[in-house]
Amino acid sequence: MSEARISIRRVRKGFERARPDPKKLGFGRYFSDHYVVCEWTRTRGWHDARLLPLGPLPLEPSAAVLHYGQETFEGLKAYRNSRDQLFLFRWQKNAARLRASAERLVMASVDESLFGRMVKAAVLADRDWVPKDPGCSLYIRPNLISSDPFLGVHAGEEYTFYVMTGPVGAYFPEGVNPVRIKVEEEDVRAVRGGLGAAKTAANYAHSLRAQARAAKEGFTQVLWLDALERRWVEEVGTMNMAFVVKDELVTPPLGGTILPGVTRDSVLELARSWGMKVTERPIAIDEVIEGAETGALQEAFGMGTAAVIAPVGKISYKGREVTINRFETGPVARRLYDTITKIQLGDLEDPFGWVERIDQLDLEQICKG
Ligand SMILES: *Cc1c(COP(=O)(O)O)cnc(C)c1O
Repeated sequence: MSEARISIRRVRKGFERARPDPKKLGFGRYFSDHYVVCEWTRTRGWHDARLLPLGPLPLEPSAAVLHYGQETFEGLKAYRNSRDQLFLFRWQKNAARLRASAERLVMASVDESLFGRMVKAAVLADRDWVPKDPGCSLYIRPNLISSDPFLGVHAGEEYTFYVMTGPVGAYFPEGVNPVRIKVEEEDVRAVRGGLGAAKTAANYAHSLRAQARAAKEGFTQVLWLDALERRWVEEVGTMNMAFVVKDELVTPPLGGTILPGVTRDSVLELARSWGMKVTERPIAIDEVIEGAETGALQEAFGMGTAAVIAPVGKISYKGREVTINRFETGPVARRLYDTITKIQLGDLEDPFGWVERIDQLDLEQICKG
């Protein structure tokens, strides 16, 4: 199928979607004119890939995804620099993670070639939707769902895979600023043997309650602890966590309960290349709270595609709130943010081979296969 063609039907003149104010993009609110979709059946594999005007999905009300949540998604971005060059960042990692998530959820696999062609076709078809303003980008959302019209509880026999895009604003409109987060003490995000390492809807569905409680109390995100001992730091809502402890970069290991972030992986590789000591080990929440008080903990930050690096300035745990690095962005967080965002824009040498320039690619050629 990967060699098969993606048909193209452009939105009709005059029917394009309204262009948002580039100053008010926010996240996940606006969508580009087109998307790319294809279907899978046991006999035909992936077929009928097509680029279409964005609109309602053809989906039966009995589709398994709507009842049992058999779904996995990805999140990546296309970046435009001041010279109007367009880049993707480590999209192959997203393709690999989608395959891993699909395997966990017993879904049809999307190979790297099909994933890459659909992502590139979606971006190039709406290339003028990729914002240029600092910190803005085109968010890309691949989504794999079971479209099987059957209410029996079993792995689906029909799947739909689509890639949609939309412009998003700077995560921190006034530059990188620390956030306040709250350690969740009641709900848990994932258990060993569960879905924690898969990027899937269920992980978010059951996180909403804690997130809503935290938001009501003025916190940006929830920090999850492990489900067994309620002691070890896992990750925050949509980001992996890292700490700088006595000049060492420390992050919890990937043990099946944590999402293997592309940003996390990039941060570890970058920090190592700078000669920093980098350690993946379990971190107790008590170590974090005490370290903030004694100063052994110099920095804490989240890592994810949306914000890249989100410094954590305050953590609340058992009714007590500690401040990290005087509620300021630390030097490690700052350097990581600056380096990664410049590499993403093609404005800094990319010794790791992380970015792919795509503006000179030809949409028809990609769709031809
Ligand atoms: C997507 C996601 C992340 C971050 O992954 P990136 O690939 O860096 O964007 C972290 N945690 C969770 C739960 C996620 O869904």
